[in-house]
Amino acid sequence: MEILSIWSYVWDVIDEGVDSVISTLKNEIGLNTLSVATSYHSVDHLRVHQRENNFYSSQAAIYFQPDRSLYTNTRIEPPVSPLAETVNPLRLISDGCDRHGMKLSSWTVCLHNSQIGRNQPEVAQRDVFGNPCWHALCPANEDVREYMCALVKDLTTNYNFATVELESCDYQGGRHYHGHEKIGIPLGEMDRFLLGLCFCESCRKRGRAAGIDIAALANGVGCELAVSFASGEPIQIGFDELCANVPETRAYLDMRESVVSSLIAEIKAVSKAPISSMAMGTRRHAGYNAEQIREIVDWYEILCYTPSPESLEQSVQNAATLMNGQVDKVWVGVCAYPPASPDAATLAANVKAAADLGVRAVSFYNYGIMPMPNLKWVKTAIEGI
Ligand SMILES: [Zn+2]
Repeated sequence: MEILSIWSYVWDVIDEGVDSVISTLKNEIGLNTLSVATSYHSVDHLRVHQRENNFYSSQAAIYFQPDRSLYTNTRIEPPVSPLAETVNPLRLISDGCDRHGMKLSSWTVCLHNSQIGRNQPEVAQRDVFGNPCWHALCPANEDVREYMCALVKDLTTNYNFATVELESCDYQGGRHYHGHEKIGIPLGEMDRFLLGLCFCESCRKRGRAAGIDIAALANGVGCELAVSFASGEPIQIGFDELCANVPETRAYLDMRESVVSSLIAEIKAVSKAPISSMAMGTRRHAGYNAEQIREIVDWYEILCYTPSPESLEQSVQNAATLMNGQVDKVWVGVCAYPPASPDAATLAANVKAAADLGVRAVSFYNYGIMPMPNLKWVKTAIEGI
């Protein structure tokens, strides 16, 4: 297996000891890659390895000291974690990986960032009614695009990364929100899709450049949602009927896909490490067209958090089809604790199923979330392939 990785947080690796953690993961468990969150969304993490200091809570942040000379083309201020104010945790971890011959991967949460969105709402997505979605930076916004390129250039220029994993590098709106959701309508797929359509000025501008009548589109989308809001009933029509009612929709979705694909291409162009793109939302919600993106990236990453090897196999086969049959380009994430993995045997069966299909990269979720005994499950799973 080319990549056997574990997702991890800097606060866990630093507090538990860089050398101790890396040495254990490499020599005792059999992993060859540490995938550390360099840029991360807001989080409340119960740290079950700890008794005191067992809760980590943070706004979205980056966990390293940025090279500010690289961010001069964006108005976005990198949201540096308090953990990186006096020391650079990523430097300590990168150096530790070098000492132990462990590969390092950047687990990079891209546009799901409510800290930047609240500080600078002009770069966030806007729904059709003009309301900002603070947790979702818009991939069409030029400052966002420059920021993402600067971030990845910074990471891959100043640290020894073997790979960069891009998570949420697409449209985020409508899938979920930042806080506890209080929504009195049973939102259906169509409601969430329409609520998530971005009508920020950057998207409108790109839509107009593509010849789309933005006023007609916004009017159609707004009317559908207004009926749902007024009645309390989710929107009943399907996608084809929506496109019949609002014919601009299809061209707008094409524009969104080109926004996402071209952003990933721009990031790839400045990265000094191979890029892995993580697919999470549906194509329609996220603007994520895997058939475009496969021509750009080195890896296509999917999350298979399931107790069923058959389900995992199906997901891998679907991903391989999207990658034009290249199963060796598919990177599979598995979760090493319940409910996805109720026991060691389930985790091992899933990892073996992926390996038997020709998958060459597997990541385990997540070092600091799983209880310590589950690390042995990871070891058993690795030994079984
Ligand atoms: Zn937008």
